[in-house]
Amino acid sequence: MSQWPDGHLYAATVSFDFDAEEVWIGENPANANAPGVLSQGAYGPKVGVPLILDILEDAGIAASFYVCGKDALRHPESVRSIIEAGHEVAHHGHSHTSPTSLGPGEERAELEDGLRALRDLGADVVGYRSPSWEFTDDTLDLLTEHCLEYSSNLLDNIVPYLHSTHDLIEVPISWILDDAPHFWFANDTWEKTIRSTREVLDVWLPEIDGIARYGGHAMVTMHPMITGRPSRLAMLEEVIEHLKRTNAWIATTREVADYARANGPLELRRTARS
Ligand SMILES: [Zn+2]
Repeated sequence: MSQWPDGHLYAATVSFDFDAEEVWIGENPANANAPGVLSQGAYGPKVGVPLILDILEDAGIAASFYVCGKDALRHPESVRSIIEAGHEVAHHGHSHTSPTSLGPGEERAELEDGLRALRDLGADVVGYRSPSWEFTDDTLDLLTEHCLEYSSNLLDNIVPYLHSTHDLIEVPISWILDDAPHFWFANDTWEKTIRSTREVLDVWLPEIDGIARYGGHAMVTMHPMITGRPSRLAMLEEVIEHLKRTNAWIATTREVADYARANGPLELRRTARS
């Protein structure tokens, strides 16, 4: 018996960390004055997002986009286009700064400024993914104080669950199903090479199949500036086709969190290898 809606074998979310220029400024504040470096991030809203939205529309699925407030202020039309296409927009910091490098007052200001920037564009924000996938001792308190409903930051499960200390659903992520560890390239080091889409599909599809086998939730995390490149857009289409072919419930993080809240605790159940 499936634990997911409509008899689906497992659940999957197609998610994007919008990132754009802020991720490069977060890497090194001096990049704020480096138009060449920033243009790598600008590719996301300028080229990647419209091409990704086309693919999602053709596939008939809704995705979740995690957006920094400052990126939303810089690219309001791009964020509006995501909202108007029916996708989820959620919080990814105001700047792309790890909460652990902020003081308590600063962390609150980042959360509130980011929320305001996204809500001013019409986003109904209920989720938070930290720019560094990391918390401080205050983060979960701040999220519940601001009536957020879920976090997507921890790597400790393959099913969503209710936090033991806070009224928040955790929808776990993983490095293995993130595009950045495989594709991220910055010319400050030439030691990390760029992987082919075939290599990454060889990593991703068996992991997705493994999660399916346990009836879990596959969180695929991408970045418009990375997966928005032409070869990887074809890979995105292939991943979505695979999710459909293997009977995934493809839902936004918000939908998955709502489902887990109403139907949890969800379990891992091993079924026969196909
Ligand atoms: Zn990010």
